[in-house]
This record gives sequence, structure tokens and C-alpha cells, in this order.
Amino acid sequence: MIRRSNRLGGITCSFRSSRGRRRYAPGPGRAVIGYLRGVKVTVVGSADAFNASGRGNSCYLVEGAHGARLMIDFGPTALLGLRHVGVSPNDVSAIAFTHLHGDHMGGFPALIIDALYDVPRTAALPVLGPPLTKHTLGVLLDTAYGIALDEVTDFSLEIGELAPGETRLLAGFEVRGFAADHMSPPHQPLCLRVTDPDGKSVAFSGDTRFCPGLFEAADGADLLVAECTRLAPPAGHHCTWEEWTTRWSQLRARALLLSHLGTDVRERSAELQRTAGAPLPLRFADDGLAIEV
Ligand SMILES: [Zn+2]
Repeated sequence: MIRRSNRLGGITCSFRSSRGRRRYAPGPGRAVIGYLRGVKVTVVGSADAFNASGRGNSCYLVEGAHGARLMIDFGPTALLGLRHVGVSPNDVSAIAFTHLHGDHMGGFPALIIDALYDVPRTAALPVLGPPLTKHTLGVLLDTAYGIALDEVTDFSLEIGELAPGETRLLAGFEVRGFAADHMSPPHQPLCLRVTDPDGKSVAFSGDTRFCPGLFEAADGADLLVAECTRLAPPAGHHCTWEEWTTRWSQLRARALLLSHLGTDVRERSAELQRTAGAPLPLRFADDGLAIEV
């Protein structure tokens, strides 16, 4: 096993190769979890809601030096994505949802039946999300498999909710919510900032258009993982590349990873990264990419 890595400002992008053959390449790839010094973010999926360019729905695995593994979002391709990066669902310590759109939480029923029937789970699974998370996940699980949340008794399924401005401890990580601008009331989508016990922090935009909560979540973070759904407006309640080029100077994060990529952004990502001239280290996400902060 050969470790490949490169430095990108204050962050390290790590890839691993086997028998000299590069295992990570643009497109579905693999990242091996381990040898951790700080906080590692593994991109389990990097696409928009439509699996653009054959990538998985955006979700991420955050591994802290204290050994916990926190999933951010769990869309329809998340279980597949975990297997691609070589992580058992049983090794996921907890899940935090940014918002309750299908491409960010649609994989929850598959995760539960995997835990019940494939690789039985015994460890508790704490889940945190915005208001309405418990109701929404309950309906989803019941609709998909006729299982009520309170029928999951093989392991403890603890579903908590988080409002903007609130902080919860989740698998040893401090998770703070900030108001995103992506859905109409009563839904309240979130940007999240995840801080490990050593103080390393990673912010996640979830899906949002530019709003104060996005910049507050990123303030002081070692890495911001943010959406860039299209090259240019109109993109609904989403961020675009054109907007990022005028907004990233306002960021107070140490590095920026752009994800939730639509086809138009993906196709030009190499060129954009090369020519961006961003005021902070910038990279585009791809499935299997692992970044250590
Ligand atoms: Zn989305």
C-alpha cells in the first residue's frame, strides 16, 4: 500500500495506491481510513441531486482523532458510497443531516435495514438533524419498509433535532447549526460546523444559496465543504461558481472544498481549479477524495 498525498495550504489531500496502481482517480474511487493525525473528511458522494457525471449524492464521513466517525447526510447512494470507500456502515458512529431533501436523507431506510438484517448493529446510532427530522425519517422508514422508528429495538436509534444557533455533542464532536437558505418553512435547513475534541473544525454548507449562516458556519473553520451546484445562476436556492468567485474573499475558513457539483461544474472543474486565483486553498470534491485537516 503506497500512500499518496499532497499539501493544499493547511490541508492534506490523501490518496492511497495499491501495488503502484493509483486507486484514486476522477470518478468513483476509494479511500482507506486510517493513519489519522487530525480530522479526516472523506467524500462519500460529491454530486448534486441528479448524480451528475456518475457521482454519488453529496455526503461526507468525518473521522476524528478520538476515533469517532460522523456521517454528514445520507442520501440514496450513501450506503453504496460507504462500501466504495471501504467503510462498514457499522463503523459509522453517528449521522448529522443538514436538511431533509431526498438526496441528503433518502438512504436512511437502507442504512437501517442493513443494520437490522445484513450486518447487525448493536451500538447506538445517534442521529441529529434540523426540526422535523424525527417525523420525516419515521415516515421515510415506514414508507420504504413498513418499519416504525420505535420498532427498531436491536440497537438504540436516538434522533435529536437542532435549530440554528444550537450546539449538540454527537459522537464526541461538537455540532453547531446555522440557518441555511434552501427550503421554505416549516423546514429549516442548516449549515453545520463540526468540531472535534482537539478543536479542529470542518463546516458544511449543506444546500443553500449565499446567506449569513453560511459565512458564520465557515468562520474560523479549518475547512469549508460547500456546495457549487451550477456554473452560473439561475440555480434556485443553490450556490454557483460565478457567485463563489465574488464571495470567497469574505470567507474566514482556512480552505474550501467545493462539492454537490452539477455536470457543468464537474466538466470544467480541473480548469477552474487551475485558473481560479482564489484567496484560500481551493479544491473540487470527487467521490473517494480524502482530506485531512
Ligand atoms: Zn442536494
